[in-house]
Amino acid sequence: ELSPEAYRRRHEITVSGDKVPPPIISFGSSGLPSEILKEVQSAGFSAPTPIQAQSWPIALQSRDIVAIAKTGSGKTLGYLIPSFMHIKRVSNNSRLGPTVLVLSPTRELATQIQDEAVKFGKSSRFSCVCLYGGAPKGPQLRDIDRGADIVVATPGRLNDILEMRRISLQQVSYLVLDEADRMLDMGFEPQIRKIVNEVPAHRQTLMYTATWPKEVRKIAADFMVNPVQVNIGNVDE
Ligand code: ADP
Ligand code: MG
Repeated sequence: ELSPEAYRRRHEITVSGDKVPPPIISFGSSGLPSEILKEVQSAGFSAPTPIQAQSWPIALQSRDIVAIAKTGSGKTLGYLIPSFMHIKRVSNNSRLGPTVLVLSPTRELATQIQDEAVKFGKSSRFSCVCLYGGAPKGPQLRDIDRGADIVVATPGRLNDILEMRRISLQQVSYLVLDEADRMLDMGFEPQIRKIVNEVPAHRQTLMYTATWPKEVRKIAADFMVNPVQVNIGNVDE
């Protein structure tokens, strides 16, 4: 197995932050729970992708993180797998509201995240609800009432449901902004700010993005505390 430095060089990983933990280079040495390893194995994955390898140990230290890597690099499991371990650790009653909130720009992407959460969280029996616009609210509200550990939502629909007071974000302690650059491009900043205002300040915040323009840097500065930054390859600004 490569040394942490050699692995980072080979995969063009750069990190900034205090005492950044070494990457988790293989599943065998990962220390991940057996239920999760079982799902990863049945998916046929041979090793963590570089963004997973470097962001898992940081996320597992409950630190804020900005992860910048191009599309297709495995960012979804980069934040979902540590979120599963977070849910176990805090073990909230899901009927009081979700522990994990993932914001995603589109219905299509939100649905894909939900599918991965269901697939990889199956053995751990997590419940996950997906909220997006362009569909009736009734079934989504009923899903919320049944309780969910994880909510994946587009900012517009979640903000509507918050204004109806049909969901509480008071239990959220793991907040993910996925595809942060696209959400800002689509004009979701006001909704995102309202949503983040409803999430307790004592939380872990994770941002996963393909690019790192100044608008994204601004919300990162507003929403995160002392984040570790991880880049894979060259970063588009
Ligand atoms: P991104 O969000 O960076 O665009 P995704 O999370 O959608 O990337 O992942 C892209 C594809 O790679 C998905 O089909 C996913 O299931 C797959 N994938 C994720 N992690 C691994 C891994 N460790 N090994 C092989 N394939 C993986
Ligand atoms: Mg993605």
